[in-house]
Amino acid sequence: MKSLINVNVASFSEAVTAAQAAQQQGQAVAFSGGGSDLLQQIKDGTDPADVVINLRSIPDGRVIRSDGSGIAIGGLVTLTELSQDPLVLSGLSAIAQAAESVGTPQIRNVGTVAGNITQRPWCWYYRNGFNCFKAGGNECFSVNGENGQHAIFGGGPSFIVHPSDVAPALVAFDAVFQVTGPNGDREISAEDFFVLPITNPERENTLGENELLTGVRIPTVSANTVSTYHKIMDREAWTHAEVGVAAVIQRDGNEVQNAKVVLAGVAPIPWRVQAVENFLSGQQISEALAREAGEMGIQDAQPLSNNSHKLPMVTAAIERAILNLAAG
Ligand SMILES: Cc1cc2nc3c(=O)[nH]c(=O)nc-3n(C[C@H](O)[C@H](O)[C@H](O)COP(=O)(O)OP(=O)(O)OC[C@H]3O[C@@H](n4cnc5c(N)ncnc54)[C@H](O)[C@@H]3O)c2cc1C
Ligand code: SF4
Repeated sequence: MKSLINVNVASFSEAVTAAQAAQQQGQAVAFSGGGSDLLQQIKDGTDPADVVINLRSIPDGRVIRSDGSGIAIGGLVTLTELSQDPLVLSGLSAIAQAAESVGTPQIRNVGTVAGNITQRPWCWYYRNGFNCFKAGGNECFSVNGENGQHAIFGGGPSFIVHPSDVAPALVAFDAVFQVTGPNGDREISAEDFFVLPITNPERENTLGENELLTGVRIPTVSANTVSTYHKIMDREAWTHAEVGVAAVIQRDGNEVQNAKVVLAGVAPIPWRVQAVENFLSGQQISEALAREAGEMGIQDAQPLSNNSHKLPMVTAAIERAILNLAAG
């Protein structure tokens, strides 16, 4: 069995320095939040790390607090903490619900916000050592193979679906991601953080070498904001979304003033359905409106040979999310 060097660090900048030092000695490095995904990847050989930099030893990365401009969520906050935090529960329901829908209690207890957002794809081929785009190769095995779990939007040349439940909810709340790396700190909108395979078939986000996601900031939400996360799975629990939808709506009574609708489990990035968002604005919420919005959600879908079952799931998920919000 492969032996690993574990490095505990006291700050994100120390993590970056430690990574650079290890690389200068010819060692492959990986950052670990809870390790719930990473350690399996190392064991399976899909991550070549010799040195694991343990971020959980950073004391101030695990805080959720409110400041004048919104709510700041440390990258090392666990999914359990995120789903149970009073600030998140009171104003950011879709985020709490998305976090609570992840995997198992054990995974939520160790898995971090940053690790959930940056987890690698769960495509069967990639996870089993096929030399596809995600592994640095130049072909996709799923497009003509096992593609039942794959993308119906935004696919090509890789057809992964982004695996995070939390990320679509963060995009729907206009979250800003905080990043640190060899060139210092930067902020990027959650929406711009993720990249389609057409831009970079090997990676899912804009993190550069030795860059880390340190935290997330949610801008202040108005008092008339309501939100929900609705997830459909292929079994009752403990798995990724076949289809998920995060909906965030500002409403005046029963009228939608503004809507953000972001899908999970259907595209290589959290997938905004702007046609649905535009359609909802200014409308009175009703069952008929929810149904029409659901149907609109699949108008640009391009299913592969084995995943058209996701189409009615998208329609139903959007419809149910809107009706959930109508019910308060
Ligand atoms: C059985 C099972 C079911 C699951 N079901 C779901 C599900 O329903 N929904 C869902 O969303 N997820 C699901 N997951 C994935 C799970 O949520 C992730 O394993 C977990 O969130 C990762 O968090 P972590 O802190 O343990 O990350 P780690 O395992 O530590 O890291 C994951 C990846 O992120 C990188 N990373 C970690 N922290 C940082 C950082 N701060 N900056 C940059 N890169 C970083 C690591 O290098 C690694 O590549 C499931 C996993 C399993 C095993
Ligand atoms: S979908 Fe992506 S991860 Fe899966 S085989 Fe194709 S390139 Fe690889």
